[in-house]
Amino acid sequence: MILKYTIPQRVKELISLSGDERIYYAVPFDIGKDALFSDDSYLVVTTKRVLVFEQGEPGISYDIKDISAAKALPRVGGGLLTLTHQGCEKVVVHYSAKHLSRYAYIARGINILVSGRFEEVESREYEKTCPICGRAIPGTKNCPKCSKEGGFLKAFVKMAAPYRKDFAGIFILMILAAVTTLLNPEIQKHLINDVLKGNGGMKKALLFIMLMFSLSVGIVIVNVLKSNASAKLGARISADLRSKLFKKYQELPISFINDRRPGELLNRITNDTQHIRMFMEDVFCNLFAVLFIFIWDVVFMMALNLKLSLITFAFIPLAVFLTVAFRKTVSRIFRLQFRKNDDVASDLQDVLSGMRVVKTYGKEKEESEKFKRLSAEYARINRRNETFWAYFSPLLQMVMGLGVLAVVLFGGMDVLGDKMSPGELYQFVTYTSLLFQYISWMNRLPLQLAQLAACLDRINDILGQDVEVQDENVVRDIDIKGEVTFDHATFGYKSYQPILEDLSVTIKPGEMIGIVGASGAGKSTLINLLMGLYDVDDGRILIDGHDKKTIRSSSYHSQIGVVLQETFLFSGTILDNIRFSKPDATYEEVIMAAKMANAHDFISDTPNGYNTYVGEKGYSLSGGERQRIAIARAILTDPRLLILDEATASLDTESEYMIQKALNRLTGGKTTFAIAHRLSTLKNADRIMVIDKHRIAEMGSHEELLAKKGIYYKLQMAQNS
Ligand code: ADP
Repeated sequence: MILKYTIPQRVKELISLSGDERIYYAVPFDIGKDALFSDDSYLVVTTKRVLVFEQGEPGISYDIKDISAAKALPRVGGGLLTLTHQGCEKVVVHYSAKHLSRYAYIARGINILVSGRFEEVESREYEKTCPICGRAIPGTKNCPKCSKEGGFLKAFVKMAAPYRKDFAGIFILMILAAVTTLLNPEIQKHLINDVLKGNGGMKKALLFIMLMFSLSVGIVIVNVLKSNASAKLGARISADLRSKLFKKYQELPISFINDRRPGELLNRITNDTQHIRMFMEDVFCNLFAVLFIFIWDVVFMMALNLKLSLITFAFIPLAVFLTVAFRKTVSRIFRLQFRKNDDVASDLQDVLSGMRVVKTYGKEKEESEKFKRLSAEYARINRRNETFWAYFSPLLQMVMGLGVLAVVLFGGMDVLGDKMSPGELYQFVTYTSLLFQYISWMNRLPLQLAQLAACLDRINDILGQDVEVQDENVVRDIDIKGEVTFDHATFGYKSYQPILEDLSVTIKPGEMIGIVGASGAGKSTLINLLMGLYDVDDGRILIDGHDKKTIRSSSYHSQIGVVLQETFLFSGTILDNIRFSKPDATYEEVIMAAKMANAHDFISDTPNGYNTYVGEKGYSLSGGERQRIAIARAILTDPRLLILDEATASLDTESEYMIQKALNRLTGGKTTFAIAHRLSTLKNADRIMVIDKHRIAEMGSHEELLAKKGIYYKLQMAQNS
């Protein structure tokens, strides 16, 4: 049993399994024959049958041996499963969008079953179990419940755990700061009552003043140490988080990076880590000191004068009410502000990286307008936030000012009535001011905590993503000879929309395979799979008979070479860029590779030869020159598998000739996959693979395919004309 669905006992009884028949899949569907939502409906796949139960009632049953294919077809808002039964395609069930990927998985499972590969069905794993809560979750996802559970506190503790000692040090300094702050009003009381009013003399007065001065110096020193330690720790935490995020970006599957906007990913590294640093510097360094002072302040006030304390506390609910009432608004508007910030950053990034297209189509004005709109929206939200604070803070200040006035009024009456000494009143007023000062400080706390929570949430969302880690017990290094087999390989960027379906073919070592197909047919997708950017959803890719998943990734990548249509150059010298594929290559090796790639001559003509700086801000190389750098990169590693993606498209004849010659040197004896739009460049391919409608439609030599008069022939005719 692969899918962990509990089907009602009633339905289970209705299935009545025969002999050695077993259930493979049992999944709900939620749209009935009448196109209305339906519950208690299941599709059950056993080793022998496909059965439908609609609203608990048994419906049609199909014998597996009469089925030749299953398809899960996405439609607007949902999808449908069809079976080709006795040669006739029939719609079996309809389901809503939430079941799309599940049914795509089932359809592939039925197809495997139909072809009799029972073992493969047994080994498929769609759902894994969450290690925390034990509930079944889709294969590649984190548990949606547990990743949210525990929330802010858990996230903060997780972040702080490696810095326990530093936190402990800051905590001790905070307590020291709190104790010294609380001592001051007590000394002031003695100064007024015992020295000034009680005629303690100048000497005693000076002693008290010296004591107060020393205490103030002590407070300053402790505060400086505390702020300094917090700032250092904040900088360390944010630097560590930045490195962790950067490392994670490198490990995450390419699909994750493609799904996110670049500005958003950049903001995680820059803005969010910066916020955490600021929180440590501005908030955390006072947090426990404030809480400590606040509690003792209340205790001392009550011990000093209960009546005045109650009068003071009467103002607290109002202050707290104001704070709490605004808290929800605060976190909402700040999340909104962050999101808009992401939008603005992403848009800017988009326009900057697509500047050539923007200029080519003369869209500067439109893009400026669009950016202005986004920027204005961001400014509007920002302004709204600031206005909110501009009203809210003074309102709170006023409530607190009234509190102190009330204490002075009622306390003054007590002093006049000899119920309280002037020193005590002074001490009490100082405590009241401290209390309100810290309430005011704490009223920004929810906002700061909400900001921190949002930052931690977004950072943990990335750090918590699963990366595909190869199982060390299974992987091994191999010396690739070059045989590549696609064994019923199926893949789609969205699992319910296959781009390549059930590819089965074996390529012999040293063979050159041309890949041909209409635009969007899946040629680049096929080489993405070979480059290891994505894994197949079903079936296998075998290299020299070993499942690609069992070959150590570093071993595999060191033996493949790639020359793509667009060669990316990193900021650095030409030497660094060629050496990228083999960092320990000697200078001589690099020159040899460059000569073979027909790149040595133009490199020698650049201002500093191999040390010429290229990349974003460096010397500009033409498309053809970049490609020859890529070829030199590939030659350097002497790869066993070569992947060429339209390597000679969009070049002038001279460049194309030079590149073609370099490529011929490179490809000799290596298994090569080459995509080309111009079919003429594939004439010397051993075999040509034509991809159409998600599958290999034709495969053979140029002459064979022309003689066949199929898709390749049509493409050739279209190009000739
Ligand atoms: P070709 O190279 O033959 O022109 P591709 O392999 O680039 O075709 O694309 C095949 C299909 O996959 C297209 O429909 C395309 O829209 C889709 N596709 C390509 N890359 C992605 C991606 N990163 N995410 C989602 N869909 C993609």
